[in-house]
This record gives sequence, structure tokens and C-alpha cells, in this order.
Amino acid sequence: MEQKPGSPITRRSPNYTAAEARQAILDRLAPIGGWERVDVRSALGRVLAEDVIAPCNVPAHDNSAMDGYAVRFADLAPQGESTLAIVGTAFAGKPFSGMVGAGQAVRIMTGAPIPQGADTIVVQEVTRAADGKVVVPAGQRAGQNLRRAGEDLALGGVALPAGKRCGPAELGLIASLGIAEVVVRRRLRVAFFSTGDELASIGKPLAPGEVYDSNRYTLFGALSRLGCDLIDMGVVRDDPPALEAAFRDASASADVILTSGGVSVGEADFIRELVNRLGEVAFWKIDIKPGRPMAFGRVGDAWLFGLPGNPVAVLVTFYQFVQDALQTLSGVSPLPEPALIHVECAETIRKQPGRREFVRGRLHLVDGRQTVRLAGAQGSGILRSMSEANCFIVLPEDRGDVQAGESVQVQIFDGLV
Ligand code: AMP
Ligand code: MG
Repeated sequence: MEQKPGSPITRRSPNYTAAEARQAILDRLAPIGGWERVDVRSALGRVLAEDVIAPCNVPAHDNSAMDGYAVRFADLAPQGESTLAIVGTAFAGKPFSGMVGAGQAVRIMTGAPIPQGADTIVVQEVTRAADGKVVVPAGQRAGQNLRRAGEDLALGGVALPAGKRCGPAELGLIASLGIAEVVVRRRLRVAFFSTGDELASIGKPLAPGEVYDSNRYTLFGALSRLGCDLIDMGVVRDDPPALEAAFRDASASADVILTSGGVSVGEADFIRELVNRLGEVAFWKIDIKPGRPMAFGRVGDAWLFGLPGNPVAVLVTFYQFVQDALQTLSGVSPLPEPALIHVECAETIRKQPGRREFVRGRLHLVDGRQTVRLAGAQGSGILRSMSEANCFIVLPEDRGDVQAGESVQVQIFDGLV
């Protein structure tokens, strides 16, 4: 977790584009240390700490890809039909143990090992069988309809690379190799809290001027999806000694501290002074909407991401900046490709040039074509439209209004819904 030399967290201008901010963060991060050995099921959502090497071939032996007949290609006449004697049947799990000799065929089921002597599978649908004989038409290809031993995973090869996060396909792939345990990286420990004097905890009535603390639940959800170990530190008042204690506690036990609120111009000053006593933190103005202010740096031995307080801005900044940072710290490599597509926008969107806007959108299929619409009111405190959205319409810094029918870039939610 060491900061790379020659890359101070603070720089002269506090204004960043989204791309610059993202890169400035990723440039500084390296995976945390520590690993453990877990059984296959427990590897779901975990990041492989070492390559998984295939201890056997998958498939283990040459087998049939179709139901049909295993034959010797040399027995088939180039023109007209060939008649072969059926000498047995091969099932998946119950191979034919004999030999396929000249003029012979073995009835074979999908997945059954190819009997000795045979080299080609003729699919059942093109054949006629009667009286212990099968008639095969011309036009077969040598070696057709075979699955070769090791064609999926070859013995001794890298079946899965270190840095891969295991999903359902990876669990199945590991199991297909007969492997019972894998080595995964330690989970990232993330301490998180909300800041604000106006915040009330759920489950009790609101006093005048209070709002329920929703950000901690949003962040709980986002962090849980990433498989982090969570330390929920509750609400911390806008009170320097309380904040200082919270930052000290968090940095003593966590790899990452995630906060919401308190980074806007009006509030940032005392937090800036405080966290810079405990570490090195930059307060950035990022040219995005919603989201703008964000803090990034180190407090003690932990990385700090100070997100804005507005509930939608929390999700936007988490998605654009924090998620891949946490993936990197967790050892995920390479980072997943962003799910960006271009689609037709079905309505007009007002935009001033200047900032990159992440507009909550909803992808629809209209006459078989993807189009995107606004997902409702776009205020940065309005979570309902975030819930109704399934993508961000990403409008670059320099562009203005979008006219209905124009093509726009869309970032599909992956893990946010
Ligand atoms: P701040 O960034 O602290 O200035 O907060 C910006 C806005 O977000 C204010 O309207 C806050 O009341 C609201 N806010 C801050 N933190 C939370 C939270 N944890 N849950 C819900 N709203 C919040
Ligand atoms: Mg606040």
C-alpha cells in the first residue's frame, strides 16, 4: 500500500476531469497483501491470488459431441452409401471397451469416449439403422463431431489467471478440473461512516431539519457487492474531535476509509486541516455532474475516499472512481472492461458544456432496437430515479444539449442494480 514515489497526492490545481481523477487514483494503488486457502464454494466473489493450473485435461478423453455412430473414416465410400455392422454401444460414463474394426460402427451417445479404432462421428439424423447395420451417406468429414481431450483446458496450462474474481463460471471451471480448494486474496477491509449534524438514524422519528442517513445503506450495498469486509462506523457529527477520533479508529483497522458528506467547499476546510494532520489528502473539484467535490488520499495506513453527501452523487462517484480503485486494491487484474455502448436517445436532454454529466437513464427495447430515455427527475438528491435507472447516459464535458434521436454513450449498471 505504499504511495508510488514522485506522485504527490496534492497538485497545484484542484480541478480535475473525470478521466484525470480516475487515473490519478488508480496510478497510486497496488493490491493489498495477504491470502487464504478456501473451498470452491467459498471462492465465489473472491479474487484468485495465484494461477489455477490444470491438473488434468478437460475433457479428460476424446468424446462424442453428438448422438450417432463412431466409425472409421477410411471405411466410408467417397460416393454413395456405406453400410457398417453395429458392434456395440458407448454411453457417457459407460464406454465401449472393444475395438472398432474394418466395416464396423459403434452406436455412441453425446459425451461418451470415442472407442478405439474409430476416428469420426456420424450424427444419428443422417443415418438409417436396421438389422444390426447402419447406412451412412457420403459427405462426412474425417474427425467430425469429436471433442478432443484437453480442448477446453489442457493439462499443465493456466486454467484461470491470478487476479480473476470468481463468479459462477469460474466455480464450475475449477470444479471441472477436480480441484477442491483455491488460494484467494484476503478481503479488503473498508471502514465507512456518514458525516453531518442533520443526519438521523433509521427507526426513529425525524426531528425538524433532520434527514435520515441513507448513504450508509447505499454504501453498504455497493461495498457488499464487491466482497469487502465492512466496518460500519455509523454517523459522525460535524465536530472536529469526533471526526478526528473516527479517522484514527478507521485508519487503525481498515485498508480503506469511505465517508460521505463534508467535502463541499463550505464544509471541507476543517476536515482538510484535520485529515492532513493525520495523513495526506487532496480535495478535488471534479468536472462532473452530479458529484463535483471529492477527497482522496491517505490517513495513517489507510486510503481515504471522501465522497460528497448528496445521495446520487455518492453512487456516481462510487461507480466512476471508487469501484475500480477497490477492485485494484483487492487484486483484480486486469480491471473489467467498462460496459459502454452507443444507443439512440429517445428524448431531448438539456446540458451546458463544461462538465461531464452522468444522467440516470433507462434502456428500452423498441422494435428490437435499444433506445434510452431519462429515468425521471435528475436532482442529485433524488434516489428514486437512481433506483429506476439501469444505466448512466454519459455526456462528455464539451457537449451541449442532446436532441431526440441522437446517438449517446451509455454506461450500463453492473453491480449497481
Ligand atoms: P454535504 O456534502 O455534507 O454538504 O451534503 C450534501 C447534501 O447531502 C445535504 O443536503 C445533506 O443533507 C445530504 N446528505 C449528506 N449526508 C447524507 C446521508 N448520509 N444521507 C442522506 N443525505 C445526506
Ligand atoms: Mg454535511
